[in-house]
Order: sequence, then structure tokens, then C-alpha cells
Amino acid sequence: MKDLLIMKFGGTSVGSAERIRAAAAISAEQRQKRPTAIVVSAMSKVTDLLLEALRRAEAGDKPGLESDIEKLRARHVETCHELLPAGVREPVLAEVHKLIGEFERIANGIYMLGEAPPRSTDEAVAIGERLSVLLLAAYLQHTGTRAVAVNAASIIVTDAVFGNATPLMEPTREKARAKLLPLLEEGVLPVVTGFNGATADGRPTTLGRGGSDFSAAILASVLDATELWIWTDVDGIMTADPRLVPDCAVLEEVTYREAAELAYNGAKVLHPRTLAPLMEKQIPVWSKNSFAPEKPGTKIVPRIEASCGARAVTSLSNVALISIEPANSVINGTEVMGRALEGLGRANIEVLAVSSSSYRQSFCFLVRDRELPAAIESLETTLALELAHGYLKPLDVDDNVGLLAVVGEGMRGTPGLAGRIFTAISREQVNIIAIAQGSSELTIAVVVRRDGLEKAVRAVHAESRMGEHARRSRGAEYGGSH
Ligand code: ADP
Ligand code: ASP
Ligand code: MG
Repeated sequence: MKDLLIMKFGGTSVGSAERIRAAAAISAEQRQKRPTAIVVSAMSKVTDLLLEALRRAEAGDKPGLESDIEKLRARHVETCHELLPAGVREPVLAEVHKLIGEFERIANGIYMLGEAPPRSTDEAVAIGERLSVLLLAAYLQHTGTRAVAVNAASIIVTDAVFGNATPLMEPTREKARAKLLPLLEEGVLPVVTGFNGATADGRPTTLGRGGSDFSAAILASVLDATELWIWTDVDGIMTADPRLVPDCAVLEEVTYREAAELAYNGAKVLHPRTLAPLMEKQIPVWSKNSFAPEKPGTKIVPRIEASCGARAVTSLSNVALISIEPANSVINGTEVMGRALEGLGRANIEVLAVSSSSYRQSFCFLVRDRELPAAIESLETTLALELAHGYLKPLDVDDNVGLLAVVGEGMRGTPGLAGRIFTAISREQVNIIAIAQGSSELTIAVVVRRDGLEKAVRAVHAESRMGEHARRSRGAEYGGSH
């Protein structure tokens, strides 16, 4: 389809009746110009509420569960009342109650079982998106835009890794084209749920927290969209997280690789897996502020001509460092490292950074702290013999650490940059525990004590003058959030 625009609205961009009206206005305006489909997150904090309700159900806390369901109902019923007049809202309200009833049924099942099967969890949490899509599509119709709510479970085909599923692009392409192209050709605006999908045999899945960005990218790719616009609550991709660094600035352009490195290293503004489906087809992406739609936002592009130095800094605090050290010199450290990584790979654990010492044959790697128990189990199994016979020292785990990552395509051509970064961190009396430079030379990752992480981020941002550079290249004073 020619000139297709995919837009994604995040949770805060549909977080209230007022925000839904704003999202609808943006969507209706674009729809008048060209074929448009939108992907929508659950209203802000709703996914957290749904997960909390399920945890309470699993723990046998019936009053807690009921109170969460009441909050869920009140939020959506009130929003529906604010959006639609009597006479229009009744069928929509009936749908809202039906979806919440579906959630209640699954949660009660979990309560009875005392256990939350991953598949049921995925089916239940996707109801947040089904509710927001229902309200936004109904409001669009009411205000004169032909729109239909679409459940992505009928389009996005995934593997069966519940909670963190991966799309199967070919079957997704077929389904997306069969379902959405006829609507688009008729001038209808599809309003698609973000975050969810289903296996080929119809079991509901989700794509991981924050996964609606990924849903939008998947649809943009399989429908060969001309552009993807991601609407959020800040002015675009910034030189740092505005919550940590108040004087950060919006970047005018970033490359796919820079954006992906930022996302993987903690910049919440994009889900880490968003860019992969778009890079191959070089579909341009915009990150824009739905609270200030007139602002240009950040454009994510294949390459930038004049890119210099470090452009942005990001951090991850929920991480842990595992160190492996031989107890004597007979051990082949490289071979141990190979097997350790292989074991972690089999256990589906993401290794965020690796660092090694060739002299002592020791090495350490960083994982997310929620994956730590599984990582330790995997290593203790893989290296059981070496550990039991004392060839390796017991695994050393340090979970009082954080990761700071400095990103920029132009870093490889900037001598002395790494030294300046380390000096800036040390000046703040923050201990550097490990360093890893990505093989792409696009990122320098530094592991520091967790309580020094935020200080270190601010120090690196100031030292590299990221804010000033970004403002200068925009040609205007610009930055901050809404
Ligand atoms: P949405 O609900 O729209 O998907 P998110 O909360 O997932 O929005 O992501 C937007 C948030 O990401 C911003 O409010 C901001 O606090 C945070 N953020 C972290 N790092 C960055 C960064 N480098 N640039 C912009 N925002 C960032
Ligand atoms: N609603 C989901 C979440 O909060 C997906 C998303 O918002 O992108 O994780
Ligand atoms: Mg998000």
C-alpha cells in the first residue's frame, strides 16, 4: 500500500479522556492525508494494575483482587462517560464490562489454582490494550472518522515464549495484509492493540513490557509502511533520561543503531526490539510528543552525515554482575567462558555486557537482576564439575551495581573520549567496577556502584556536553518534557 503511515500511541498518550481526544485528533488529521493505521497501548498504569491483580489472585488475596478489578472498571467506565454522550455510549460500555468480565474470569481461575500459567497471564494482561482500543475506536467513530478496533492476536503470529514472544514475520505478513489492507483500502482507520499476539494455533501471547512499540514496528514492516510515528510523553529521544538529567536535550536525528543501543541499555523511550524489523527496509521512524504534536520530535534514520562524539547517555539499575574466576592455572578460561555463555544462551538469558582479563583468565558478565536466579542455576549446572572439584572459585555475584552506557556513532573518531568519561565518573567519587566497549565502537558501557549511578550519568552528560551539542545542531533552544 502506497504512503501508509503507522502511528503508535503509548500509555500516557491515551491515559485519560482528554488524552484519548488528543490521540483521536492526531489520528483523524493524518487519516485525511493518507492511509493510516494506529497501534495503541493500554491506558497508563493499567498493565501494572492488571499484573498486580493477577499476583493477588495467585497469592489468594481475594479482597485485593476485587479492589483492583474495581479500579480497572471505574477507570474505563469513567473515561467512557467522559468521551461519549448517552445514547452512544451504551454499547461501548457493554463491551467494556464484557472485557473486564473476561479478565475477572481468568483472574478467578488463577485464584482457584493458586498459580498463574503464563498463557493465562498473557491473555489477561492484553485486555488492557483491548479496552483502550475499544474506547479510542468508539470515540473516533463518534467524531466522524471511520475506525475499527482490531485485536492484534488475530494478526501478529508469534512463537510460544509467553511474556516475551517473538513474531513470526511471514505468517504475520499474511494475516496483517488479509485483515488490514481491505480496511485501509476502504478508507477505514484500523485501531490495533499493541503488546499482544498469538501463536499459530491461537494461544495468546505478549511481546514483553513496553512491547507496543515493537507491535507497531512489526506492522510497519509487514505492511511496508512509508513511516512509523511513535507518540509518547516527551519531545523525542533525548541526550539522557529527562527524569535523571533535567538539562538534557532532544536529539534531532539518531541512527537506527544509536537508537537500538540506547533502548537496549535502558532508554525506556523505545522498546529494545523496535528497530530490528524496520532496519532492513529502512523505514524511517519518528519519536514525537503527543502533548506537543507541533514539535518536530526525533527522526530515526539509517545514517547521519556529520555525527560527532558521544551523543547520549543511558543507564540500567536493575542489573547484577556475575564473576567467574579460575582457582588455578590449569583451567582454560576461554573454554569455560564459551561454555558459560552457551549455557546462558540456552536458558534464554540476555547478557548485557562481558568483560574479561586474559592474565587471570577470569571474566564477568552483566545480566538483569530478574534473570539472576536462572542465570546462576544455568552456570552452576554448566560448570558443575569445575565448581565441585575446586577448579573454579565459587561464583561471585554483585547485585549492588548499575550500568551506564554512552552512545554515539561518531565516538570511534573521537580520541580521548573514553578517558574523559572515566575521569568524569571518578571525579564524582563513583567506583568503576567493569568496562566494556561494544565491538561496534558505538557504545562504551561502564559498570558502577548502584548508588553512584545517577551521579555518574549526570557527570558524563555534562562532561561530554551532550545537551549543548544537541541544542546547537537543532539550531534552537529546545528540550525538556511536557
Ligand atoms: P510510552 O508509554 O509512550 O511508551 P514510556 O514511558 O515507555 O512511554 O517511554 C517514555 C519515557 O521514557 C519518558 O517519559 C522518559 O522518562 C523515558 N526516557 C528514558 N530515557 C529517555 C531518553 N533518552 N529520551 C527520552 N525519554 C527517555
Ligand atoms: N501496556 C504494555 C506495558 O505497559 C505495553 C506498552 O505499553 O507498550 O508494558
Ligand atoms: Mg513505552
